[in-house]
Amino acid sequence: MLEIKNLRVLADGKVILDGLNMSIPKDEIHVIMGPNGTGKSTLCRTIVGDKTYEISKGKIELEGEKIDGLTPDEIAKRGIFLLFQNPIEIPGVTNAEMLRAALVDRGVQESIFEFNKRLNSSCERLGIDKSFIHRNVNENMSGGEKKKNELLQIDVLKPNFIILDELDSGLDVDGLKSLSEGLLEYKKTMKASILIITHHTNILEYLHPDKVYILNEGKIVMEGDEKLAEKIEKNGFKGAFSVSE
Ligand code: ADP
Ligand code: MG
Repeated sequence: MLEIKNLRVLADGKVILDGLNMSIPKDEIHVIMGPNGTGKSTLCRTIVGDKTYEISKGKIELEGEKIDGLTPDEIAKRGIFLLFQNPIEIPGVTNAEMLRAALVDRGVQESIFEFNKRLNSSCERLGIDKSFIHRNVNENMSGGEKKKNELLQIDVLKPNFIILDELDSGLDVDGLKSLSEGLLEYKKTMKASILIITHHTNILEYLHPDKVYILNEGKIVMEGDEKLAEKIEKNGFKGAFSVSE
């Protein structure tokens, strides 16, 4: 589904990622762990077309088609959705308005009545309070509420590739569990792929990953299954490879 080939990315003239290869098939969950400042968020933002990051080598393909070079909007329409580490607040725009605009933009034609029915049933399915529909996007929401709000966006926009940058930040144990359950349910029905950035393995108890990568200084230094994540949790990154201070 998503192929990253020999990717080199620069930010502000500095090489952040170099020689990065990943292949994430349909209906799989892959996890990236790694020390701070090693390029995890850079990778996420590069995939979704953030032009702050310059691809100087390599490519990114979705279903065999090159997507690097496309605008963030075009990439989103291809079905890639990024849950930000710190989701932006959009004062003055409600979830309903934003989602309606996004659906219209994707060529979905439905009446306001059908649209409202869609939002209401998403809220019911996800256990989200219906007041969320008319709240401004992420405004005055707690970390947990923002993640729930993004889950609502996923359920409405139906992406087939979801990226979660630090999905556990700002979530308590219950929040983590309900987000994981929502994601798994979504994956089951949509056969979506999920790429997760995390520092903690608690989430992996719910979302058993097919593959775990360790990123250090812009390169994948280790690859394995769930056991690799457990090893890192127990011994830290320093126990696994040399980390420069
Ligand atoms: P991580 O998410 O793994 O903690 P980041 O991808 O946020 O790491 O950052 C990796 C490195 O790239 C850091 O050294 C950071 O300072 C640098 N970096 C990230 N974004 C930019 C940017 N827009 N301009 C300059 N440097 C950046
Ligand atoms: Mg980050």
